[in-house]
Amino acid sequence: MYLIAIGIGVTVMLRVQDARPAGLQGDVGLAVLAIVGIITAVSIFLSASIFTIGYVNRDSRRRGMNSALWTWFVLLMLPTSVGIIGFVIYLLMREPLPYPCPRCNNLVGARFNFCPNCNAICIRPARTAKRKLRRPTNSARIARTI
Ligand SMILES: [Zn+2]
Repeated sequence: MYLIAIGIGVTVMLRVQDARPAGLQGDVGLAVLAIVGIITAVSIFLSASIFTIGYVNRDSRRRGMNSALWTWFVLLMLPTSVGIIGFVIYLLMREPLPYPCPRCNNLVGARFNFCPNCNAICIRPARTAKRKLRRPTNSARIARTI
């Protein structure tokens, strides 16, 4: 598709003199180079966008999130002036990956502390360790003294 676009662009530049950018009217070589550069930039942007959309769609489904909603959100943010920020917001907001239950191997959502399939209590060790290490915040200490 990229090669077809390049072919069309070069042909138009060579055949139609009015299509050439102002200032490059007389220089066919420069006009061809300019159109190849523009097509390359646009196709890099397009393929990066398609890759981003595809990644968000599959990744959100894998994490048990609303994949249609997130795909539309990132897709609608892309053409705006803030562009990639939709993808950044997705990366910040996404749910942690589900993990297998230690007893029955059923996939358990990261927010569950028990397995919905066999009711086993399965708190991930990394999560509990993090929680124990966390010191009480200033506001929590103030609340305790009150
Ligand atoms: Zn289980």
